[in-house]
Amino acid sequence: MKRRVSSLARTCGECHACCVELTIDTPEFKKDPLIPCAHLKGGRCGIYNTRFKICREFLCGWMLSPELKDSLRPDLSGILMLAVAQASLPQAYRPAGNGMQFLVIGGEAAITGADFADYVFEQVSRRVGVYLTATIPRAMLNPYLEPFVAANDREGARRVLREVYRLLMASGKKKGFLGLLPHLYRIQLEKMRIKPNRL
Ligand code: SF4
Ligand code: SF4
Repeated sequence: MKRRVSSLARTCGECHACCVELTIDTPEFKKDPLIPCAHLKGGRCGIYNTRFKICREFLCGWMLSPELKDSLRPDLSGILMLAVAQASLPQAYRPAGNGMQFLVIGGEAAITGADFADYVFEQVSRRVGVYLTATIPRAMLNPYLEPFVAANDREGARRVLREVYRLLMASGKKKGFLGLLPHLYRIQLEKMRIKPNRL
């Protein structure tokens, strides 16, 4: 949603991921997910000076977090980060403040990118609540990654990230066919948590 925020050291640059990937549902403007906004022209907002309030105010997690590397900008990393309100997190993760949800827009390669995997590893070590989603459903990553963080096993953590992503994709595709699938999905995640070395 193209913006420069004077109090932040960064700008959106060439990125317009949120103008494509996100659902917008406000009284003045609605947009379905995964569809480029009708106002997006040549990679830029065609109504920039009169764009909607939601567009003027929205900041993705990368824009909100100056400590994030430039390489983690959504269009470069394939991961669109969204802040998760502290109050909506499980109690154990609230002391660390707001959480973060990672919407995968760049496929499996994005998940295993070193900068992203390192960032997730660091957040889990700080007890920040983090979620992974492809579209729906989403999975809280912390319980699955904590054993690897405790063992300082970054490679193992990357394998878990990849596996959770694959499960999310499989679960999302079949959603609506079998009511059992979310249940099976949770069982598989639970197996990963209990026996991480079998991945
Ligand atoms: S109106 Fe402009 S800023 Fe808002 S979603 Fe569309 S292209 Fe992006
Ligand atoms: S996803 Fe973030 S960096 Fe990209 S256009 Fe939207 S606010 Fe800017």
